[in-house]
Amino acid sequence: MSEARREELKASLAAVEDRITAACEAAGRAREDVRLLGVTKTFPAPDAALLVELGLRNLAENRDQEAGPKAAEVAELSPGAPPRWHMVGSLQRNKARSVVRWAAEVQSVDSARLADALGRAAGNAREAGERTDPLDVLIQVSLDGDPARGGIPVADVPALAEHITRVGELRLRGVMAVAPLAEDPGSAFALLAQVSHRLREDHPNAAEVSAGMSHDLEQAITHGSTCVRVGTALLGGRGLASP
Ligand SMILES: *Cc1c(COP(=O)(O)O)cnc(C)c1O
Repeated sequence: MSEARREELKASLAAVEDRITAACEAAGRAREDVRLLGVTKTFPAPDAALLVELGLRNLAENRDQEAGPKAAEVAELSPGAPPRWHMVGSLQRNKARSVVRWAAEVQSVDSARLADALGRAAGNAREAGERTDPLDVLIQVSLDGDPARGGIPVADVPALAEHITRVGELRLRGVMAVAPLAEDPGSAFALLAQVSHRLREDHPNAAEVSAGMSHDLEQAITHGSTCVRVGTALLGGRGLASP
């Protein structure tokens, strides 16, 4: 592993940590209330392993095909302390079987049928000895009602939440959203905070709010995010061809 890359990642991780700490202070929140997910999509396994070595415990990917092999490689590169992997990208039901082999948490659940498929797959994986814990899930919410960017409309969240709690092997943890491009992220995150508040009235343990990326993590933390998903600010640009 390149020593230069290690120094680069160490510096960017420290800078992101500083931003999170400052945002928490400004919002009067505790640093421990916000998890940092390193989004390693398009970056190779050695980069992910360096982040783990530098102390990052939570990593995320958005495509199953890329994440499965990468997670296996990172486990070999960091034998002492494998990270906890999160799926944050849109997911086809036929990928459920594969995703539950590497992901501890799926943040992009946006239909009852996907929840059913994940529950079945997690149960089968548990019986096969491929996992030990139930699968943590977040409901992905569309904050502008545009289904192209993933997520369900705000009005559909309560019904999907009820459904998920009846699926064995799934633990409903909260909500996730990507801020719409066209809008002020602050008002989008304020809406997500309302959705979360409403959800917790019926599901007090579903308190996770996954919001905020490289360019808007401060606004997300101001509005109650408990989990920021950071790729570019940690690892660098992904180039024009990459998602
Ligand atoms: C890529 C991605 C991120 C990270 O975005 P950056 O702008 O690179 O920090 C966060 N969330 C999701 C769902 C993503 O696909």
